[in-house]
Amino acid sequence: MNSPEVSVVVPIYNEEAGLPTLFERLYAAMDDFGASYELIFINDGSRDRSAALLREQYERRPDVTRVILLAANAGQHMAIMAGFEHCRGEIVVTIDADLQNPPEEIGRLVEKMREGYDLVGSIRRQRQDSAFRRYASRAMNRLRERITRIKMTDQGCMLRAYRRSIINAINSCHEVSTFIPALAYTFALRPTEIEVAHEERFAGESKYSLYSLIRLNFDLMTGFSLVPLQWFSMVGIGVSLLSALFVGVLALRRIFLGPEAEGLFTLFGIVFFLLGLVLFGVGLIGEYVGRIYLQVRHRPRFLIDAVLEAPDIRVDRRQAQTPEITPALGGATAAAAAERHA
Ligand code: UDP
Ligand code: MG
Repeated sequence: MNSPEVSVVVPIYNEEAGLPTLFERLYAAMDDFGASYELIFINDGSRDRSAALLREQYERRPDVTRVILLAANAGQHMAIMAGFEHCRGEIVVTIDADLQNPPEEIGRLVEKMREGYDLVGSIRRQRQDSAFRRYASRAMNRLRERITRIKMTDQGCMLRAYRRSIINAINSCHEVSTFIPALAYTFALRPTEIEVAHEERFAGESKYSLYSLIRLNFDLMTGFSLVPLQWFSMVGIGVSLLSALFVGVLALRRIFLGPEAEGLFTLFGIVFFLLGLVLFGVGLIGEYVGRIYLQVRHRPRFLIDAVLEAPDIRVDRRQAQTPEITPALGGATAAAAAERHA
């Protein structure tokens, strides 16, 4: 079986309310566009009926649908990684399942790729998210510009297209905490960006809490830069120099003015400030060390419970030396696993 030109990779976590409309619009958009395609849905350990809906959809369009059922929630970026390891297209497009990225825009990304680029990013025109998310994103974009060499206008938009060479490079990375658009950018030789439309979430709520957004941004900053650590060393050097100066002044005052005991609260202020700085530094180092710890344990990044795909694709894929995470499941086992997810 020949590989399709376009693979669309869709991570799904508790999206049952929006999936029927996603299917309707996504298949229609791809059929209208006319390129040969496959759609890879990754169920990221959803606890609602998403897996059952995906299985139904697979049965409806087995020719172009492939479903990867992860055993537990591994996070959006790991789910996409699982999709990358299974996709076969020359051009691979990632898109969110909540219809914030209109599926009708995929065609424009593919057209741009056909001009010879190896990475097409996207910039959300009139982003439809809360004001807090928009401001926080802008600040994070700016921080990333300063501390990494990655140039992206809108890092948070996951509607992106990648060429096979980049997907292969990403598949050869085994990092446990990552940020896919940034990782892809580090391998890109000819990247570009286009503007795309953005819509409000069709159903349900964002799957990112404030805490998980902060974690994700730490993944981005620590995964692609050592600059935060270096800045911290600089601050440390600065503070040491200032305190040396301070000690000198105090010594002179002791000699020329005699013993003094004023300024106790100023001293408290300075000590607390320095304590805060030290704790921040320890936390920052902890962010790096924690990720090193996760990485060195070599646990699987995600576990695949089952893959629903046509048998000829499975054979095809195995021949194409795609790395396997779990032993491929036979048809009967895959069906049983799908039952468990139903
Ligand atoms: N998602 C996922 N695993 C997660 C969190 C999110 O697969 O742990 C998927 C989610 O189903 C959606 C996409 O990632 O398709 C983007 O998530 P969401 O729309 O909640 O993020 P936001 O648009 O708020 O950044
Ligand atoms: Mg969304």
